[in-house]
Amino acid sequence: MDFGFTEEQEALRKSAREFLTDRSTTGLVRDLMASKTGFDEKLWKEMADLGWMGTAIAEEDGGLGLSLIELAILVEEMGRALLPSPFYSSVGLAAPVIAATADGALRKTLLGGIASGELRATVAIPEEEGRWDAAGIKAKATPVDGGYKLSGTKVFVPDAHLADEIVVVARTGKTKDPREGISLFLVPTSDRKVKVKTLDTIDRTRRLALVKIGGVEVPVDRRLGPEGGAWPLLERALDHSATVLAAEATGLATKVLELSRDYAKERTQFDKPIGAFQAISHRIADMLVLTENARSTTYYAAWAIEEGVPDAALAAATAKVAASEAARVVSQGGMQVHGGIGFTWEHDMHLYYRRAKWVEMFLGDPSIWRERVASLFA
Ligand SMILES: Cc1cc2nc3c(=O)[nH]c(=O)nc-3n(C[C@H](O)[C@H](O)[C@H](O)COP(=O)(O)OP(=O)(O)OC[C@H]3O[C@@H](n4cnc5c(N)ncnc54)[C@H](O)[C@@H]3O)c2cc1C
Repeated sequence: MDFGFTEEQEALRKSAREFLTDRSTTGLVRDLMASKTGFDEKLWKEMADLGWMGTAIAEEDGGLGLSLIELAILVEEMGRALLPSPFYSSVGLAAPVIAATADGALRKTLLGGIASGELRATVAIPEEEGRWDAAGIKAKATPVDGGYKLSGTKVFVPDAHLADEIVVVARTGKTKDPREGISLFLVPTSDRKVKVKTLDTIDRTRRLALVKIGGVEVPVDRRLGPEGGAWPLLERALDHSATVLAAEATGLATKVLELSRDYAKERTQFDKPIGAFQAISHRIADMLVLTENARSTTYYAAWAIEEGVPDAALAAATAKVAASEAARVVSQGGMQVHGGIGFTWEHDMHLYYRRAKWVEMFLGDPSIWRERVASLFA
């Protein structure tokens, strides 16, 4: 049995690490945190030139046709480097939703555009109640001549201010089962009836936005998937997105673990490196175990989705719980190991902690994903 990565996958990881170490520096991360948009156009173009956006997009759709495993490797490295970029929103979130629902020429335009980096997309799910489930969808799409009129307010839409297109989850019908009657629409951010306002949230390296959609007319050919039956397709695509987030969580937990190990060897108190005290060494051992668990569940989920095995959805939900909790707990541990210095603005530890909290809450917190684990396992 071989659980290792292939030579090509190891080479991809190595080149991604080199590129991100060079380009996604603390200086850049902090500059972008302080900037208005949090976006570096040049870095985006460089990543596009490397073909990264098309990694897991099929060749016939304009991508490289590699797998979710290669995408997870790249995103794990991005997590280590705290990459400030709309990569996750466009490639990790919108692309799988579009791949699961769009067809024909529109599919080619959208996925080809995302793969080349020329088009950026995102997905708008929660509303003012902040819910990630079907019952939380209240935005309305009313049929009009040749299409729909769309109204509603969406929150926590990642990088909406940088996106060309937003996939909006809306209700076209109301039935007893909240999962029915949900449709997806492609809404251009250039429409003057779409108002995007970035929110002041815990992680300034990746912005979330409030999106107000005030009676936007969407032609029928910009509806993605079946009318009223899109929720199950969205749910499957979000398994893919959750796995990508889990990869990012794994990367950031790994980096915090390494920083903490190195600091525990270098910092001395009472004439000993603090790593000699069990209060520190056992905590770091726990951090390692959590990180390894995050990595195993993430790559199993990526493999399971790619192979279409029956427990793929369960694997994705397990990875989302394990990896996002690992990132948060490991970041908290990193803070403790670093003592007072870890608490300061100048030290990077809080940047990892903030990103870990973002990843933990996005797509729903671990209790929501535990519910999904429980229902899929039942
Ligand atoms: C919010 C805040 C405000 C502060 N304000 C002030 C202030 O006003 N004035 C001031 O003088 N200082 C202040 N400090 C500094 C504070 O006193 C120190 O942070 C604290 O004493 C810990 O020391 P340290 O940061 O050097 O951590 P370290 O001693 O290096 O500890 C690092 C880690 O090692 C562990 N550790 C260290 N020794 C042992 C041991 N023997 N056994 C087991 N574990 C061990 C610690 O528990 C910690 O987890 C402040 C710190 C913070 C976080």
